[in-house]
Amino acid sequence: MERRVYNFSPGPAVLPLKVLEEAQRNLLALPGIGISPLEISHRSAWFEGVLAETEANLRKLLGVPDDYRIVFLQGGSRLQFSMLPMNLLGGGRGADYIVTGSWSQMAAQDAAREGNVRVVYDGKPFQFDRLPRPGQIEIDPQAAYAYFTSNETIQGVQFLDEPAVGDVPLVCDASSDFLSRPLPIERYELIYACAQKNAGPAGVTIVIMSDDLLAGIDDGPPPMLDYRTYVKEKSLQNTPPVFAIYLVSLITRWLLDDVGGLAKMLERNRRKAKLLYDAIDACQDVYRGHAQPDSRSLMNVTFRLPDDESQARFLNGAKDRGLVELKGHRSVGGIRASIYNAMPLEGVQALADFMREFAKTQ
Ligand code: PMP
Repeated sequence: MERRVYNFSPGPAVLPLKVLEEAQRNLLALPGIGISPLEISHRSAWFEGVLAETEANLRKLLGVPDDYRIVFLQGGSRLQFSMLPMNLLGGGRGADYIVTGSWSQMAAQDAAREGNVRVVYDGKPFQFDRLPRPGQIEIDPQAAYAYFTSNETIQGVQFLDEPAVGDVPLVCDASSDFLSRPLPIERYELIYACAQKNAGPAGVTIVIMSDDLLAGIDDGPPPMLDYRTYVKEKSLQNTPPVFAIYLVSLITRWLLDDVGGLAKMLERNRRKAKLLYDAIDACQDVYRGHAQPDSRSLMNVTFRLPDDESQARFLNGAKDRGLVELKGHRSVGGIRASIYNAMPLEGVQALADFMREFAKTQ
């Protein structure tokens, strides 16, 4: 096998080795079936089993209440930026958006094409380095929903608790921290995540939503953009991304059986993030963290070096040690280390060691 490096990519991102090995073992022929998971019908009993197990595992991991539905969609998280308002903003209703980074900003812009959008917090003047302070946002009690992005993948700021929105239905883009920690699902009316960070490969988006929310959908959206279609057809309204969902099933199994659940996962993620933030804080003359300390993400650690030249040397030195995909998003620059669930502690330790070593040479 080609040597695996430590891949700090923001997504598609590192997957657990055990999951890749299992998929590899079954790639040519599923045991007892003799067909590849890349070839098998989405109407097969095997795939029905995969869908059922994935849903059951997600329910178990997140404690999803019985009056919530789980569906598997395509079109990535970005499709949700439009699909959500198309379902919920009929009849001139409005929604409140909390804008803490590039993704919530884009979500608000896309939603504004479909309905009435009010931005109730905008972190842009601070280069999206912080979350709103408690009491800083005022949600319209009449809003159809209040929207936030739990983890801003590009800037590296993360809500570790839900923002206070009163009785207004809470909607969340959890794309880059889904399954990285326990969540009180009952506080959300809808939460969604593309798989390609913590939950699987690219190609599938998981949406969890309450029956209450589903009951409030207008008859506006075309069938394939209407959440009710996916609920009614149990995600088999057309051909779903079979292989991607199969991988999600293996990841959920890994989280349950190997990691021991999301509380354990959170513990691991906290330990990993601390290694990097401690390195940043210990070498402040070389590294400047982007996020304010109380808004720091456990998933995407963002920082800068003094200039482009030192940044390039940092990236090259890291690459020589098998630490790759550390360049920040093209829109903001700097360094970004994405340390999702499947990034092992050893990989993060290797990066933290390199950061301290590199700083000494500056
Ligand atoms: N929201 C967040 C928080 C993301 O990180 C991303 C992807 N990086 C998206 C939305 C868009 O996801 P997709 O590429 O699946 O449309």
